[in-house]
Amino acid sequence: MAQINDHYLKLKAGYLFPEIGRRVKKYCETHPDANVIRLGIGDVTEPLPPAIVQAMHAAVDEMASRDTFRGYGPEQGYDFLRQAIVDNCFANRGCQVDADEVFVSDGSKCDTGNILDIFGNNNVVAITDPVYPVYVDTNVMAGRTGQADESGRYAGLVYLPVTAENNFVPELPAQKVDLIYLCYPNNPTGTVATKETLQKWVDYAKSHDAIIFFDAAYESFISNPEIPHSIYEVEGAKDVAIEFRSFSKNAGFTGTRCAFTVVPKTLQGKSADGSHHSIHALWNRRHCTKFNGVSYPIQRGAEAAYSPEGKSQIAELIAFYMQNATLLRDGLQKVGIQVYGGQDAPYVWLKTPNNLTSWAFFDHLLESSHLVGTPGSGFGAAGEGYFRLSAFNSRANVEEAVDRIQKLLT
Ligand SMILES: *Cc1c(COP(=O)(O)O)cnc(C)c1O
Repeated sequence: MAQINDHYLKLKAGYLFPEIGRRVKKYCETHPDANVIRLGIGDVTEPLPPAIVQAMHAAVDEMASRDTFRGYGPEQGYDFLRQAIVDNCFANRGCQVDADEVFVSDGSKCDTGNILDIFGNNNVVAITDPVYPVYVDTNVMAGRTGQADESGRYAGLVYLPVTAENNFVPELPAQKVDLIYLCYPNNPTGTVATKETLQKWVDYAKSHDAIIFFDAAYESFISNPEIPHSIYEVEGAKDVAIEFRSFSKNAGFTGTRCAFTVVPKTLQGKSADGSHHSIHALWNRRHCTKFNGVSYPIQRGAEAAYSPEGKSQIAELIAFYMQNATLLRDGLQKVGIQVYGGQDAPYVWLKTPNNLTSWAFFDHLLESSHLVGTPGSGFGAAGEGYFRLSAFNSRANVEEAVDRIQKLLT
């Protein structure tokens, strides 16, 4: 009989979103008339911006004619997109990133998981808690952890709590770590990192020979001009950081799939014999071996995100979601709920009222107000007592949700 990867058996069975789905389904079956509003899963709700759709249509037409048809493209992405990314995400912010340091892919979720392929299993991994569950689970699958305890914490991982007590700024690890996951603006807490905070991490990484995985999937939701959009805005980051970006949340590509990862050529790792090697070369090898490129029409669509029309349409989308976030923040604060985030990110992170556990508040909100959010404890032990609401929804749903929460709590 074929042997399985036993590390998969360590994964906690009730992954967060399936468990939410199970509870909501059960409730809806017994209460078919309830008008349930979902502010849970972090998926966008608005359609693709017209400039992007137009570019995709034109590219599909090119594929329909022998003269302009394209087969396999470069695995790393077409030059037109890699260059547009450099010009519009990095050069414009004073960051020195070369087009051949940009790897276009079908998603940041995949990239943040796949990056582990090129790193050895003896690395000590630090993650913030609460955290985007993908970082944890992919390390479990790769065999970098032991078993989980009751709170869901895996042996072998270094957890860095982020709570109201430390103002959602993780402390540097007390021990030496080799790989560090940072996500800013943060999912799930909706909080951001200042330049000083990121500098502290880059300095730590430099002095401990560590590498930072910086997930900036939500950078376009930043409105505060003091907050960096890229880790490469920080001095020295190109020697220690890989950055993950996605078109999912800004341009609505969650169902279309396009993202990119920046792997600087200056980044080094060491082999078992102690010699130094280019991380860029390893990632390039991995990418070309296991991936065959994002489809041409999708890359043309992504390129259009940087056209003048594309930019202004995306800015409108972001403004729309961020008005939702403001409505949620203000509405909750009015009834005395302590809220965090939601100013430079599309997530509002709240302290559960009356010290309810995250899941108790989830059930209460579902049963009394027919609202679905995401229990903080599902993102990690330190998320217990917190709850996430997403601003990705229609205006009518957000207004109705605020109204219901206010009625519930007054
Ligand atoms: C949504 C999200 C992404 C984007 O993932 P894609 O696979 O590109 O859709 C990446 N990181 C975080 C933290 C996210 O919430």
